[in-house]
Amino acid sequence: MTKMPVIFFGHGSPMNAIHQNPFVDFLCQATQNVPRPKAILCISAHWETIGTKVLKVLKPRTIHDFYGFPQALYDVQYPAPGSLAIADDIIQSLRPILVEPDTSWGLDHGTWSILQHLYPQADIPVLQLSLNKKLSLSQHYEIGQKLARLRNQEILIMGSGNITHNLRQLDLNPEPKATNWAVQFDEMIKKAIINKDLPTLFAQHPADQKIWQMAHPSLEHYLPLLYILGASDRQDILSFPYEGMELGSLSMRAVQFQS
Ligand code: ZN
Repeated sequence: MTKMPVIFFGHGSPMNAIHQNPFVDFLCQATQNVPRPKAILCISAHWETIGTKVLKVLKPRTIHDFYGFPQALYDVQYPAPGSLAIADDIIQSLRPILVEPDTSWGLDHGTWSILQHLYPQADIPVLQLSLNKKLSLSQHYEIGQKLARLRNQEILIMGSGNITHNLRQLDLNPEPKATNWAVQFDEMIKKAIINKDLPTLFAQHPADQKIWQMAHPSLEHYLPLLYILGASDRQDILSFPYEGMELGSLSMRAVQFQS
């Protein structure tokens, strides 16, 4: 039986969908050693809801959920199919947690700006699971744990966010230097992942509150990582297939667990 890896991607600027840079070069070969999935389930920072939802449509639309970017980015389409049966299976897997089927969303840029490079043919069914705004960090992690069984059904679970994400702190100068607090936070989370240090990953240390505020004025870009950590297990080998800062303080670290 093939057990699929679980991967968290930092997505950074939507422009990565159409740019050529070292991060995009990484994405283009990121699934070289991954068996071809039957479907992809993405947990994206850009889909927050009240209650947990799963996208259940046959043809997900490409959502351009950003403003003020060049037309070329709005022209990007990622016409992957959806899967009604797999959406139902995800709903079943997460019981007793209530997950509602959703027909209003589509694929947001957290999903397609990455998949566009991983699977440019757009011929593998893609589903999204939303981030329930009402849950605690440990509850997001618990949903990840329940998703783990999908790995044995050839479903690739991916998270898409950023380990640091404070848009007010971005450095728009050409070739900005990595910002200290961002490097420090990124290292703290990296260490906590290696050590399976859940209190740190769940932001439970009062002394860290200041740096959490700096790294995540709101948590939606961090949360997808918790799903990937939850879906990992002891047999997995942990790797960080990409790391680096975009715009000074946006951690582009990728986190992969593969058995
Ligand atoms: Zn984003």
